[in-house]
Parts: sequence; structure tokens; C-alpha cells
Amino acid sequence: MVVVGAGQAGLSAAYHLRRTGFEPERDFVVFDHSPGPGGAWQFRWPTLTWGKVHGMHSLPGMELTEADPAQPSAQVVAGYFAAYEREFGLRVHRPAHVRAVREGTAGRLLVETSQGLWSTRALINATGTWERPFWPRYPGQETFRGHQLHTAQYRGPEEFAGQRVVVVGGGASGTQHLLELAPYAAATTWVTRRPPLFREGPFDENAGRAAVALVEERVRQGLPPRSVVSVTGLPLNDAVRRGLENGTLHRLPMFDRITLDGVAWRDGRHVAADVILWATGFRAALAHLAPLGLREPGGGIRVQGTRVVADPRIHLVGYGPSASTIGANRAGRAAVRDIRRLLAGETAAAA
Ligand SMILES: Cc1cc2nc3c(=O)[nH]c(=O)nc-3n(C[C@H](O)[C@H](O)[C@H](O)COP(=O)(O)OP(=O)(O)OC[C@H]3O[C@@H](n4cnc5c(N)ncnc54)[C@H](O)[C@@H]3O)c2cc1C
Repeated sequence: MVVVGAGQAGLSAAYHLRRTGFEPERDFVVFDHSPGPGGAWQFRWPTLTWGKVHGMHSLPGMELTEADPAQPSAQVVAGYFAAYEREFGLRVHRPAHVRAVREGTAGRLLVETSQGLWSTRALINATGTWERPFWPRYPGQETFRGHQLHTAQYRGPEEFAGQRVVVVGGGASGTQHLLELAPYAAATTWVTRRPPLFREGPFDENAGRAAVALVEERVRQGLPPRSVVSVTGLPLNDAVRRGLENGTLHRLPMFDRITLDGVAWRDGRHVAADVILWATGFRAALAHLAPLGLREPGGGIRVQGTRVVADPRIHLVGYGPSASTIGANRAGRAAVRDIRRLLAGETAAAA
């Protein structure tokens, strides 16, 4: 068996494989092309400290305790994942890039990696979204004279000192960037496609369940998952309240085009800008599965639980409804349970 990705979802799957009797290296291998442990968390910007991350769930079987709220979450999670891999003997092949997964022979899948070819009966895909930042296209984008970057490249507010910054996107990253940037930048402007959806009260279990159900329904229909914020809303915490009061989070509708030195609306309004920061989210990183032709006409991959409907040998964990740390934990367990059934069925059929 092959697990692709050693973030929250891949490690959860590896843990459950191990717990149910699969031996690492003999029965399953885990590939990850990042340099170290931590999944995408190892790349999060240094000002995203542990104290600013509210909803991270521990991996199964080992709690993350006593983390320093002032420490960058990248360091906290990398350290925790490294300890987790050691504790459960989950050897991760890294850096090992999975280039493509193809149909093999005798009902097996062929996995092309930077560490050679592997043949497998089932594959758990846990490649996350971090490596596919989504950049919407707007007229004039190519000729803008200022600097453009995506959340994936954001390293903190200092580099924006004295600059006029337009932040695009109505999710948690967009609001966090604005609140951080405002004290440094000469001016900030916030634009979003839809009016932001602020959520009063905690994002409790019921709210979580409702959000997951919405995404589940889409992927069951073979549609691509929508943005995270469209199902979770934005938490109305103290920092956000202050931002709303002092105007930092005053939102404008999406501009219509980008000019040489700013952004413009059809009604003639223009805002001068040195920087456009695209906090416009991420898409699932699934290019290596393209040879299998799993996409539905709706553009998404239809999944039932974690199992790909078009190919039950493949499970997507950390995808769609399981694209959260708690969802990834559960998905790892569900995928292993399902694969055990699949393999047991194959064995029974062969007997
Ligand atoms: C800024 C930000 C903050 C977030 N905060 C929270 C939060 O507070 N709470 C929460 O629940 N969720 C949060 N999320 C979502 C969160 O990242 C996920 O829920 C979870 O950490 C994702 O885990 P994952 O294992 O699915 O993916 P990742 O952590 O992205 O891991 C995927 C791994 O796959 C590897 N990989 C990818 N492609 C290949 C390939 N072709 N070959 C080999 N390896 C590959 C990568 O190297 C990576 O290590 C946040 C997301 C972002 C962007």
C-alpha cells in the first residue's frame, strides 16, 4: 500500500494502518516531497504563531501539549509531527516526489516516484492543498507594475512597510493578513467577491457537522469543493471586531480590472496600489492522479466517504469534507477501514 503525503491526513492514515496490523515498509510506504516533517504547516509564515491557530486537533494516539503560544506554528507542528513519526515508527520517505499514478498490471496501480516505481493494490492520497494556490485572473494582471503575491508566499507584515496594499479574499487568511499589515502599510484596501460572512459564537461541533455536510454533498455529486470560508464563515473574535470598528476590515466589492498602478472598478473608482496580496485560497493538489482520469464532468472527483467512486482502490483523505485537522484524522481511519475490506474481498475472491 502507498500513502502519498505525510501531513495530518497521511500520518493519521499511516497510524491506523500500523494499528490494524500493517507493517511500515513491508506492507505500506509513505512518500512526502517536503524537506521535513510537518506537512504544509512547515511552510506557514512565521507570524502565524501557535496562539493564533485555534482549531488544530492532535493526531490520533498522541496529544500535542504545552506548546508555546508565541512560537511559530510551523515550528510547533514540525516538532510534534517529527516526534509522532518517531513514536509510532512511521518511516516517511522524504523528500520523495510522487510524479504520477497509473493503471498497472493485474489490477494494481503503478506509482512513479523520485525513488523509483512502486506497484500497489491501494493508494491513500493525502497531498493537501498548499501547493496549489489559487490565483483568480483579472484583466491587467500581467502589466501591473507593483508586486503581486499569494498567501502561500506571505512571510509577515514587515516587507509591506510604507506600501499601499490591496488584499483580495474573504477568508481567514485575508482578514489575518489585513490585521497584521495595517500597522505597517501606508494604506490597505480589502476586496472580496461576496460580502464577508461573519459568524457569532464558537465554531462548535454542530457548526462543524453542518459545514462538513455541505461539502460532502458537493463531492458526492462530483463537484469541486468550494472555499473553506463559504461553509465555515469568519469567526468574529476580538481582533476582527476591532478591525471592523477601526475600518481595517472595511470591505469593498471585487475590482473589475488591474491598472498599471492600482485597481479599478467599472464605476470609475480607482485605488492606487504597490502590492496586491491574493488571499484567494487553495485547490486540491491532485495532478499526479490525472493519468487515472478520475475527474467527473462537474470538474471534481466523486467520493463516497473517502473512497473514489470511479476507482475504489484510491482514497482521498484531507480532501473536501475532510480538509481540516479533525476531518483528516477521521478520514485516515475511515480509509484504512475501507481498504481492509477491499483487500479482504480480494483475498476471499482469490481463494
Ligand atoms: C494558513 C492556513 C491555516 C490553517 N489553519 C487550520 C486550523 O487552524 N485548523 C484546521 O483544522 N485546519 C487548518 N487549515 C487547514 C489545514 O492545513 C488542514 O486541515 C490540514 O493541516 C491539512 O493536512 P493534510 O495532511 O491534508 O495536508 P498537508 O499538511 O498539506 O500535507 C500534504 C503533504 O503532502 C505532500 N505532497 C503533496 N504533493 C505530493 C506529491 N506529489 N508527492 C509527494 N508528496 C506530496 C506535501 O509535501 C505535504 O507534506 C489551515 C490551512 C491554511 C492554509
